[in-house]
Parts: sequence; C-alpha cells; structure tokens
Amino acid sequence: MSGAIDVAVAIVGGGIHGAGIAQAAAAAGHSVVLLEQTAAAAGSSSRSSKLIHGGLRYLETGQFHLVRESLHERTTLLRLAPGLVRLRRFYVPIYSQTRRRPWQLTVGLSLYALLSGFGRGAGFGTVPRSQWKSLDGLDQDGLQHVFFYHDAQTDDRAMTEAVLRSGQQLGVRMLCPAQFRNACLREDSVDVSFTCSGSEQQCHARVLVNAAGPWADRLARNITPAIPVPTLECVQGSHLIMDSAAPQGLYYVESPRDGRAIFVMPWHEKLMIGTTETRFRGDPGKVAPTPAEIHYLLGVLKHYFPRFRSDGAAQISASFAGIRVLPGGAGHAFHRSRETLLTADRSDRPRVLSIYGGKLTTWRAVSARAMALIASSLLKRTPVARTDHLSLS
Ligand SMILES: Cc1cc2nc3c(=O)[nH]c(=O)nc-3n(C[C@H](O)[C@H](O)[C@H](O)COP(=O)(O)OP(=O)(O)OC[C@H]3O[C@@H](n4cnc5c(N)ncnc54)[C@H](O)[C@@H]3O)c2cc1C
Repeated sequence: MSGAIDVAVAIVGGGIHGAGIAQAAAAAGHSVVLLEQTAAAAGSSSRSSKLIHGGLRYLETGQFHLVRESLHERTTLLRLAPGLVRLRRFYVPIYSQTRRRPWQLTVGLSLYALLSGFGRGAGFGTVPRSQWKSLDGLDQDGLQHVFFYHDAQTDDRAMTEAVLRSGQQLGVRMLCPAQFRNACLREDSVDVSFTCSGSEQQCHARVLVNAAGPWADRLARNITPAIPVPTLECVQGSHLIMDSAAPQGLYYVESPRDGRAIFVMPWHEKLMIGTTETRFRGDPGKVAPTPAEIHYLLGVLKHYFPRFRSDGAAQISASFAGIRVLPGGAGHAFHRSRETLLTADRSDRPRVLSIYGGKLTTWRAVSARAMALIASSLLKRTPVARTDHLSLS
C-alpha cells in the first residue's frame, strides 16, 4: 500500500470508546490514527443521560460486577476530571403506589454503598418530611418517603473531547471528517480504506479497533474475510429539555405506566427528563425522539411535578435521542445486560477488535480491557503515561 498511513492501531469512531482506546494505546507507546466521520462525540456519546454512575437499577437485574466497576470508575473520574464530573444528590420519592418499596431501597442503597467501597458519595438516607417542600415542587400527594443518595453528572460531549485531547497530546492522529469504507485482513495486519477530505485513502495497521457505536455492526460487515458479528439490538433513548428552570436535585422516579426508572435533572440551567427505550432499526444518523416517546416523558413529568400539568406549562425547548447497542435476546431491553461486549476476529494476535454497547462511565475500564485483548498483536513498547494519572479538562 504505497502512500498509506502506517500505524500500530487504527481506530474508527470518535465517541467515548474510540477516544478512550486511542488515549490508552498512545499512553502504552503505540502509534494511533483515529477516524471519525462527523465530529467528536457525534453519536451516543453526546446523547446519553450524562450520568457517571454505578447504575442503581442494574442491581435489580443482578449486574453486580458492572455496578462495582462503574462505581470504581466514578471515583477515578471524580479525581481525574473534577471540572467535568461532579457528585450530585439524587432523590428517590416513594408513594403509596410506587412499585419499589422502602425496604428495597434501603437494601439497594446499602449494597450500592458497599459496592462503592464506602468511598466518596457512598452516603444515603431519607429526607425529613419537613424538607419535602424544598424538593423542586415534587408532588406531595401520597408521598411516603424520599430517599437520597449520590451519583455523578457530566457533560458527555465535553468528556469525550477531553479524552480525545488527552490522546492527541500523547500523539494520536485524529482524522475528521474521515469515513471508514472497508478493511481487508492480512496474515498479521489489516488494510483499511477510508475517505478523507473527499479522497480515497488507505491505512495499514496491526490492529483495527471498531468503536463505531451504533454503526459498529455495519462496519464489521465491511471487513473481508468476514468476521463474527454478535446478535445485537439497537434501542433508542430520548430526552426532553424543558423550558423551565433547572431543579436543585436529580430525581430518580418510576414511570407510572411501566415502572421504568426515569431521571429528572438539571442540564445547562434547564430541566431535562429521560430516557425511553424504543427498538430502533433505521439509520443511526437519523435517530430522533418519536411523538410516543415525547408523550410518555411528558406524562411522567406531569405525574411527579404538578406545575407542568396546567395548559401550556410543559414547553419543550429541545430534545435529542441516542442509540444503545444491547446484546440481542428475549424480554424487554430494560432488563438486558449493559456490559460492554468486546469481540476479536481471533483470540491470538487479533486483527480486529469490535466494541459493542457499554456505558459512558466505564470507558477507562473498557479501554484497558481492549488494550489487553490486542496486546499480542502489538510490538512491545515503553509506556509513556498511565491513564489513571492523566487529568482531563
Ligand atoms: C439514551 C442513552 C442514555 C445513556 N445514558 C448513559 C449514562 O447516563 N451514563 C452512562 O455511563 N452511559 C450512558 N449511555 C451509554 C453511553 O452513552 C454509550 O455506551 C457510549 O456513549 C457509547 O460510546 P461509543 O464510543 O461506543 O459510541 P458513539 O458515541 O456512538 O461513537 C461512535 C462514533 O463512530 C463514528 N462512526 C460510525 N461509523 C463510522 C465510519 N464508518 N467512519 C468513521 N466514523 C464512524 C460515529 O460518527 C460516532 O461518532 C447512554 C446511552 C444512551 C443511548
């Protein structure tokens, strides 16, 4: 491939996983090129609920490993990115008709504190009745208890950009807009074709990392010879930003319709509510909230915050949707695993590593796992930095 870029690691996707793996690979001393078709964090990494959290509700589905790892990452990110990740107080109101009962909350929050190692943000308890009036107009009718606990909030796009900058400072070459077209596997390397600035270009890499988020299965199908692609399901999640002042706290409420957990939170001086889970089969670049999702979220908001019930009170100032990639399977997406799936074309000296699904919160842990999986394909290098020492801003 004359004129081709020659690198150790070629990464497709400028979302949090592409950014994280680029940073980790460059820190380990490898040459890295990252291709992004639109802009940094153009996909799910700017359309999340913006939480750096253990995921209290994942305890209900027994995902203890994921919760513990996420809480550990929360602690690390609070240390590495204090300007981007902030600890917040979350409130969980319990009404007479709430499905999750107080004892379940007490058990869940105790376990959450335990899995966090009783570190920063492990404190939880109940809000005294005398203080309920200060809870952003939360409906008091039938209210029995209000639990509080802590988790963190971030700006997902800013976080992704900060990780990309960190990688670039270590030598990552980012090409944007640059769109992956196809790849051809060789004995111990991979030839990647992409378009950049309107021209066809090539890259020769020891490993191709497919971090294309909701596009990852399409990308994997453009590799020859064919590589295994797991059965996946794409689920869209929508958020509404209301034309209303930001609440003081974050509320973890239960949808009265189906019991799903919904967050009501401050976002850039406004109130944001999300999210939904709707099966998605279209073009990931065109995902947008559906009328049914908007109706559902407004219903939850009005149910818990009576001030939005009067005519014209619930004005939407913006909305967005993102796509989760989940392992395929039976049952509702809400109960499906949130673990990140890492698949290689072969176990020894992989030439392609694909990342499917996952959480914003666990990007460092996933990046470390990805590096371990591709280590046998890379030449030994002297690390130039430790990612757990690289502050992000
Ligand atoms: C609604 C919703 C709420 C969520 N809330 C949270 C939360 O609160 N906390 C949490 O921890 N996690 C949350 N998540 C999960 C988290 O947002 C995602 O797991 C994470 O952002 C995925 O990042 P990624 O890098 O894998 O993919 P993406 O961010 O989607 O990045 C993929 C990138 O690849 C690029 N790309 C695709 N194809 C090509 C190509 N051919 N050539 C070049 N570039 C290409 C795209 O443009 C895109 O920028 C949420 C997810 C959703 C959908």
